[in-house]
Amino acid sequence: MQNFSFHMHTIGFDGRNTVEEMVQAARDTGLKKIGISNHFIVHQNIKDSKMYQYAVRGNYHTIYNASFEEAVEKFKSHYEEIDRVKEKTGFPVYKGMEADFFLDNRWKEGFEKACEILKPDYIIGATHFVVLKGEVSNSHDLKNAAKEEQNMLLYKYYQNIRAAAKSKMFDFFAHLDLMKKVGLGLESVWEDIERQTVEVLALHDARVEINTSGFHLPCGEPYPSMRLLKMLAKYDVPVIISDDAHNKERIADRFDAAENLAIDAGIENFYEPFTGTQSSINVKEISTGRQA
Ligand SMILES: [Zn+2]
Ligand SMILES: [Zn+2]
Repeated sequence: MQNFSFHMHTIGFDGRNTVEEMVQAARDTGLKKIGISNHFIVHQNIKDSKMYQYAVRGNYHTIYNASFEEAVEKFKSHYEEIDRVKEKTGFPVYKGMEADFFLDNRWKEGFEKACEILKPDYIIGATHFVVLKGEVSNSHDLKNAAKEEQNMLLYKYYQNIRAAAKSKMFDFFAHLDLMKKVGLGLESVWEDIERQTVEVLALHDARVEINTSGFHLPCGEPYPSMRLLKMLAKYDVPVIISDDAHNKERIADRFDAAENLAIDAGIENFYEPFTGTQSSINVKEISTGRQA
């Protein structure tokens, strides 16, 4: 079974445990290395989104930032904490982030500057939001939209993932079919869009996670679906298994089941970060200013 996990969240963002608690639990579970990947979400209109008020009520609105300065401040002290825990425990814990990609030149510039300051060890690319006419919508807002708008937003969702893949700024991509969280994108009519997206991912050497948090959804399957897993196999896209743990009990949750699904789908190419032989592509490119 995969003995590392690079997608997890901690206190101060929307997780429930400290970095040290996550490290101890990972060690007890038998993992050999982990990465902490809290949300890096910056958009000037993010606090106007319907989702923001929802997050305020749930007390996890700290993950939403209207400016890069705001996000960088939070990550500076967070990364210092990771360094302290690494030093104290001697356990290999890497500094990551789950960054929301926005197709916008100002976002790109701001994000590159933020990475120069923070120097993350790796970056997970994510799309939790879709922007339409300046309005930022979260998956939960998509659920409540009219059918025509839902289709438009879902189309833009996959468009955003393809643009993120082309940017080559990310080490791997989170939950490809996230919108099934609210029951969207499951029909066969979306298959062509999914295939186009996987083609673009493959063409740009992207890697994709199998996210086991999906097992806890009503659909009872990880992200992405078997339909997408088979496409990833066909295009030989490297795959990493993630728990997306927001608490220590979920660390390495159902990794065995995810691995079996991957094998059933025909996936043979598994990605392991920080082996010493494969380098983490993106951080270096950002810090040297070599952008694709
Ligand atoms: Zn996510
Ligand atoms: Zn996550």
